Amino acid sequence: MLQDGQNILNQQGRPVADWHSQPAPAVLEALAATPGGLSSEEARRRLEQHGPNALPVTQGPHPLRRLLAQFHNALIYFLLAGAAAAWSLGHQIDAFVILAVVLINAVVGFVQEGKAEKALNAIRSMIAPRASVTRDGQRVSLPVERLVPGDVVLLEAGDRVPADLRLLRAHALRIDEALLTGESVASNKQLAPVSPNAPLGDRRCLAFSGSLVSAGSGAGVVVATGQRTEIGHISKLVGSVQELTTPLLRQVNAFGRRFTAVAIVAAALLFAFAVTIRDYDWADALIAVVALAVGVVPEGLPAVITITLAIGVQRMAARHAVIRRLPAVETLGATSVICSDKTGTLTRNEMTACRMMTAGAEISVSGSGYAPDGKLTTVGVSAEDDAEANALAAPLLRVALLCNDSQLKRAAVHWVVEGDPMEGALLTLGRKAGLEPDHLRAEWPRLDEIPFDAQHRFMAVLSQGPGGEAWLFVKGAPEALLQRCSHQADQEGEVALDRPHWKEHIVRAAASGQRVLAFAARRVSQGRQITPAVLEEGLTFLGLVAFIDPPRDEAMTAIRRCRAAGIAVKMITGDHPETAAAIARQIGLDEAPVTMTGAELDTLSDGALATAVSRASVFARTSPEHKLRIVRALQAQGHVVAMTGDGVNDAPSLKQADIGIAMGHKGTEAAKEASQMVLMDDDFASIVAAVHEGRVVYDNIRKVIAWTLPTNGGEALTVIAAILLGFTMPMTAAQILWINMVTTITLGLILAFEPAEPGVMRRKPRSRHGSLLSPFLLWRVAFVSVLFMAGGLAIFFHALNRGLGEDVARTLVVNTIVVLEIFYLFNVRYLHMTSITLRGMLGTPAVLIALVLVVLAQLAFTYLPVLQQLFATAPAPLLESALVPLLGVALLLILEAEKMLLRRLGLFAAEV
Ligand code: ATP
Repeated sequence: MLQDGQNILNQQGRPVADWHSQPAPAVLEALAATPGGLSSEEARRRLEQHGPNALPVTQGPHPLRRLLAQFHNALIYFLLAGAAAAWSLGHQIDAFVILAVVLINAVVGFVQEGKAEKALNAIRSMIAPRASVTRDGQRVSLPVERLVPGDVVLLEAGDRVPADLRLLRAHALRIDEALLTGESVASNKQLAPVSPNAPLGDRRCLAFSGSLVSAGSGAGVVVATGQRTEIGHISKLVGSVQELTTPLLRQVNAFGRRFTAVAIVAAALLFAFAVTIRDYDWADALIAVVALAVGVVPEGLPAVITITLAIGVQRMAARHAVIRRLPAVETLGATSVICSDKTGTLTRNEMTACRMMTAGAEISVSGSGYAPDGKLTTVGVSAEDDAEANALAAPLLRVALLCNDSQLKRAAVHWVVEGDPMEGALLTLGRKAGLEPDHLRAEWPRLDEIPFDAQHRFMAVLSQGPGGEAWLFVKGAPEALLQRCSHQADQEGEVALDRPHWKEHIVRAAASGQRVLAFAARRVSQGRQITPAVLEEGLTFLGLVAFIDPPRDEAMTAIRRCRAAGIAVKMITGDHPETAAAIARQIGLDEAPVTMTGAELDTLSDGALATAVSRASVFARTSPEHKLRIVRALQAQGHVVAMTGDGVNDAPSLKQADIGIAMGHKGTEAAKEASQMVLMDDDFASIVAAVHEGRVVYDNIRKVIAWTLPTNGGEALTVIAAILLGFTMPMTAAQILWINMVTTITLGLILAFEPAEPGVMRRKPRSRHGSLLSPFLLWRVAFVSVLFMAGGLAIFFHALNRGLGEDVARTLVVNTIVVLEIFYLFNVRYLHMTSITLRGMLGTPAVLIALVLVVLAQLAFTYLPVLQQLFATAPAPLLESALVPLLGVALLLILEAEKMLLRRLGLFAAEV
C-alpha cells in the first residue's frame, strides 16, 4: 500500500524502512508496483505526490557578498586610500572620480562574473543525467528527476544509481559505494534479503542513490527518491558551484598582484622624486601618482578574461560540446592529437545487418535502417526462396534475439532503438526473417547473463527453452568466440570447426569496412547459472552477421580541418583491425593506415610504445587499459591529447588525457563524470569545432592582454616622462581616471566577443608551455607604450607652442590617448594578419557600438560645460582637433608595418 512520502506502510500498517530485510515481492507489493514497471499515468500521479527525485543544490554566495568580494583586492584598498588622501587634501573631484572608477570596476566585474556563472549553469543542465526505466512495460530513458517510488530502473556498468533501489535482478552486479560507506572495494550485489540490523554496507539487495555501478547489470524498484534516499539523509546538499577559475586566470591574477606591488613601489619613488627633485606641490604630486597607479594597473583584466572564457563555453555548447571543467576551454586550443573512438563518433552508429554467413549458406539481407522492411535471400541460389533462407538463418537468429537487451520501437515516422544500435539491428534482422523478438523472449526466459564488456568482447545469456532445457547463447567479436568453439553447426548437425573458412569470411567483410559479429550456442545440462567452465570451450559456432555502419560525412571534413591545423587524429577502437583500417581510409584519416592491435601493444615496453604511437594512426581490438597507455605515450612525446570514451573502464584514460571527452548519447555517467567535456551529439566534427573555439578563446585572451597592457602603459609613460623631465603635467589626475573609466566599460570588453580570425585552423597548435606574456607580447607592450607617449607628448607641446593654453593642451592629450586606444584596438583584432581589410575596418556590431559610445563620451568630455568644469577641459580649434585622428591613423600604419615586418623576418613566428 502506498502512502505519502516517507511513510510507506506494509500490510500490517507499519512503516517500511527496512527494505533490505524484505523479499523483493513484498517490497513490490508494498510499493504497489510490478516488475514490469508503473504506467505513465500512475508515475505522473506519484511525481506530484513525492516531488522530483533531486537533492537541493548548493547555492552560490549571496549576490551582495559577491559584489563586496569585488572590493576585496589590494589594488582597491590602495585606491580607496588614494581617494581618502585626495579628499583630505581638498581634491574632492579627484576623490569622487577615484570612487567612481572603483565602483565601475566592481560593478563590471560583478555583472560579468554573474553572466559567466549563469552561462555555465545553463550548460550544466544540458548534461543532466538520465536513467533507463521500465514504464508501461517498455524500456525508456528518462531524466532522473522524474523517477518515483515504484519505478523499475535498469542498471548497467557505468551508471550512477539514480535513486535508492531494492534489487529485482542482479547479474554479476558490483556497485562502488565509497560515497556512502567509504569502502573502496565495490560491493557484490544479490537479491536475498539481509538481517534488519545489517549496516548500510551489508545491505546487498539494495542499490543506493549516487553510487556507481562498476560491473555487471541488474534492475531494481525505486524505494526512495530525492531527500528521502540514504545520500539525501547524509548530505542535504550536493553539487557544487563550479569555480570560475582556470590556470590562465590564476596566472593573470598572480601577474596582477605582482604588477600592483611594483606599481605601488614605483608610484612611491616617483612621488618622492617629483616632490624633492622636481619641486612639484606635494598634494598635486600625490594625487597624480595615485591616478597614475590606477591608470597603469590592469584591474579590469580578470573580469574580461572570465567573460571571454564564458563566451567560449557558450559558443562551444552551441556546437554541441559541453564543457564540464572551465580549464578545458584553454587547453582545447592547444590540442595536438585527437584520439577518437570509431563507432558512433567517426561513424554514425546506425547499424544495418546486411549479410549473414552460416556453415551452409551465405544470406544477403535487403533494406536499410531499423525498419523491418526487407528480406533474407540465399546467395547463389537462383530461385528466390525466402522460406529457405529464413529457415537456414533461424538458429543463429534465435541467439541474436535472445542474447540481446535492446528494444525496437516504432516512433512517429521511423523505427528507433532503445539500447545498443547493433543489437537493435539484430532485432530488425530477426523481424525481417519473420521472428517476433517479444514472443521469443517470452518463450525462452533468461536464467542468467554475462553482460557485454569491452574487455572480453562478448555477451552470454543462459535461457530456458520451451521443453525446460537450458541453453547458453553467446554473441561477440569473432576471435573471442572462435577460440571458445570446437564445432560448427551445419544442416546435418555438428561438425568440426573450420577456422580458416571463418577467418576468410571475417577478413573479407571487414576489409570493406563492415563490422562482424559471431554467434555460438551450447546446451547446458544442469545449473541455472553460467559458470566459467561452460563458457570457456566446447561451444558450437553458428555463424557471422556483417553490419554496415556508414561513416559520418561531417567527420571527413573535420579530419581535413585537423590536418590543416596540424592536429593528428588517431582512431582507437574495439573493432577488428581490418574494419578499422577500411573506415580510416573511407573517412580520409589515412590512405594507408598503420594499424596496431591491442595484442601488439601489449608486447611493447613504454619506451618502444612512445615511438610506435606516433607512427600508427589506427589502434584496433584495444581495451580501455590500452587507451591509458596510448595517452601516456603521446603525452610523453609532448602532445596535448584529447581522448574520447564512453564506458566505465574508460574513466582512467579520460582523466589522464589533457581533454577527456565523453559521449553524450552513448557515454555512461562514469565516463561523463571523468571527462572535461561532453559531446551532445557524439560527433567527431563537434570535437574539432570545440578545438576551433578553444583557439579563438585563447587568441581573444591574448588580444585582451595585448590591448590592455600597452594602453595602460602608454598613459602612464606620458605622465612619467613629464615628471622625470620636469614638464607641466600633460594630464590631470582626474583626466587620467576619466580615460580609465570610459575605456573600461567600452573598449575593454570588446575583444572578449571577437569572432575567429580567418585561418585559425590553418595554424599549428600552440605550445602547451608557451607563457601568456610571450616575447611578442612584451615587445608589443613596450613598443606601443612608447608610441602612445610620443603621440601624447607631441600634441601636448604642439598645443602649448601654438599658445592654446594648458587646458586645451591637456584635453587634446586625453582625446589623443583615447583615439590611439581605438586605433590600436583595430590593429589588435587581427594578430595574425593585416587589419587593413574591408572586414577589419568595418568591425563587428560590438566594436561599432563601443566606438560610438567612446566618441560620444569624448565629445561630452570636451564640449559639455559640466564636464568642462569638472575635468578642466576646453575644446581645441579645428586644425588641432583634426590632428588627433591623424595621429591614430599614423599609429595604425606604424603597427601594421611592424606586424608585416615581424612576419617577414620570421620573428615571434611561433606565436604570431
Ligand atoms: P569503438 O571502440 O570505436 O566504439 P566498438 O564499438 O567496436 O568500437 P567495443 O564496444 O569495445 O568497440 O566493442 C568491441 C567488439 O566487441 C566489437 O567489435 C564487437 O565485435 C563486440 N561487441 C560490441 N558490442 C557487443 C554486444 N553488445 N554484444 C556482443 N558483442 C559486442
